[in-house]
Amino acid sequence: MPRTFALAIHGGAGVVPRADMSDALSERYHAALRGILEQVSILLNGGGSAVDAVEAAVCALEDNPLFNAGHGAVFTATGSQEMDAAIMDGRDRRAGAVGGILGPRNPVRVARALMEQDGPVFMMGEGALDFARGAGLPFEQATYFQTDERRRSLEAFLALQAEGKRSDDPSLLHGTVGAVALDIKGNLAAATSTGGFTGKRPGRIGDSPIIGAGTFADNASCAVSATGSGEVFIRWTAASEIAARMLHAGETLEDAANHMVHEVLAPREGSGGLIAVDREGNLSMPFNCEGMYRGSIRSDGRAETQIYR
Ligand code: ASP
Repeated sequence: MPRTFALAIHGGAGVVPRADMSDALSERYHAALRGILEQVSILLNGGGSAVDAVEAAVCALEDNPLFNAGHGAVFTATGSQEMDAAIMDGRDRRAGAVGGILGPRNPVRVARALMEQDGPVFMMGEGALDFARGAGLPFEQATYFQTDERRRSLEAFLALQAEGKRSDDPSLLHGTVGAVALDIKGNLAAATSTGGFTGKRPGRIGDSPIIGAGTFADNASCAVSATGSGEVFIRWTAASEIAARMLHAGETLEDAANHMVHEVLAPREGSGGLIAVDREGNLSMPFNCEGMYRGSIRSDGRAETQIYR
């Protein structure tokens, strides 16, 4: 029997509030997600691996300044940009991750190159940059990553902070990109990449590059990529806990993912969501906030994209 594939992507839980979203901007988000799903589905349809698919999807999301990763990443409190990314292969749980880097055009490609080496799983700082140079990966000038939109977000964040206030605009607080895939050979993979959140403390690393927190894949259960309040996702090992509930408690992907997002994270100020796929190609994309840029495509070739509930 021919196997089918499934691919889901997200552009973060930090959506523009519905009241502020214009039709034109909404269509730009939908078109960006749809284009990436269609492009990566060609790879999967041709027998490409889940790992190649999630890397390609996350690269495309990093290249698009609408999303908070790579080009268009948010600024830290001191006006720098620090990016985190991870990738994991469900076949053998090999993984690669980088934290707090600026320079490589696609942080997820640094994570992938690390994964392909028999060495460290997680690198940060100058060592990670040296590794990326050695791997021959493309770098960009700092200005490539910066956008006026993100600069304005930082200014708004700092102005509120000076008044002793905190913004509750999710598009200021959140954002991340990610992908999960099941390929036609039955293998799972996940990848996640982020600039973190506007005004984060320099040196802070979120859940995205932490294997088991923001990113996880194991053929025995599922592949997960998360977005949201990273600290809570780290403390509750959000991604691998879903896999554990499936393996040890026999829960379905849908039940395990919903439990994590609504019963574990939501009551603990863990705002956000995640995308997940299991070995049968079931997809789950729960979130507990206003929206999450997301989309999916299966072997039938029909891309579906959504922003709000
Ligand atoms: N989870 C990311 C982080 O904590 C941010 C987000 O997805 O909104 O860095």
